[in-house]
Order: sequence, then C-alpha cells, then structure tokens
Amino acid sequence: MNIEETADQIEIILRGAIEASSNYEAAPHNYCILFNPQLDERWVLVFLFKNSDKHRIALENGVCFWLHQYFTDCVSKDTKLNNLNSYVAFDSGELPENQEEYGQLHEKFVAELESLKNESVDGHVEICGLCEHDFNKHQMLGQAQGDEIAPSRGWMICPDKKCACFRTWSASYSDGDT
Ligand SMILES: [Zn+2]
Ligand SMILES: [Zn+2]
Repeated sequence: MNIEETADQIEIILRGAIEASSNYEAAPHNYCILFNPQLDERWVLVFLFKNSDKHRIALENGVCFWLHQYFTDCVSKDTKLNNLNSYVAFDSGELPENQEEYGQLHEKFVAELESLKNESVDGHVEICGLCEHDFNKHQMLGQAQGDEIAPSRGWMICPDKKCACFRTWSASYSDGDT
C-alpha cells in the first residue's frame, strides 16, 4: 500500500473508534493522522478531546485505553496494516489549522517518544519521561478480563490531575507459580 492508501485505511479505523466511543461521557471529538517520514518513520494517530478536563476524565475512566486497544486490535486484524509502525496519542483542543501547526504537533509527539526511550536509568525509571513527575507515584490501572484473577494489561496515569501522560502496560503470569 502506498502512503495515501495506508492513511485512508487508518482513517476508517479512527472514525470507527470515535463512533464506537461516542456514548462515553468523555469521548474524543476528532482525530488527526501525523506522518512525515523525513521527521519520523512512525504513524502518529492522535485522538483529540474538546478540552483538557475531558481528556483527563478519559484517561482516568479508561476511554483512552479503550481507544488504544480498539486501534491496535483493528490494525492487528488488518492484513494490509499488519506491520504498521504506529503510536497512538491523545491530546485536547481543536485540529491543527495549517501545515505549520500539524508540524508542531507532530514534533511534540516525536519528542515524547524520544524521552520515553531515554527515561530508564540502569533499567529503572525514576522520572516519567512523558510528564517528568515521580514515576513511582503513577497509578497502574486495568480491568481483569474473563477468568483472570488480576488484569494482565492496562494503562498508567499520573496522580497529578493536570497531567495527561498515558502509557499501556501488559504482564504475563504464565510462568509464575511453578
Ligand atoms: Zn505527571
Ligand atoms: Zn507521567
């Protein structure tokens, strides 16, 4: 697939995600697709919330995680998009208005990815690479699925109410208890 076809395919998924989440109290009102191979090889998909309050509610109540899962599930089932190198991000406000604003938003997320890559010191994270707050105070959230006794995947947020950092986590218990 060429770039345009890939973008079209991604757009269908993002629209579907927004539609499917529209009953939630805090649902995204728009999305944007950021791709510029000269800047970064990943496709950055941004769900936009009307304002930072809605964004924070969606982080706390799991809507962001749900959107993240929705997107990654659709991509993994889509044979054409299977190897898509992507980053799902969240932000608040309106769509960028021009090329320059799109570029600035894209650079913001590329910088975020860069600091995530460099956040661990000797295998430990002390300061969150996304928000620069104490990483150990971040909350791990998740919901057990099916017959799980504890969630095996979920998301992490910062206790600071003004903070909007988001990341997913997953764990495997399969090799424990033996
Ligand atoms: Zn924070
Ligand atoms: Zn953080």
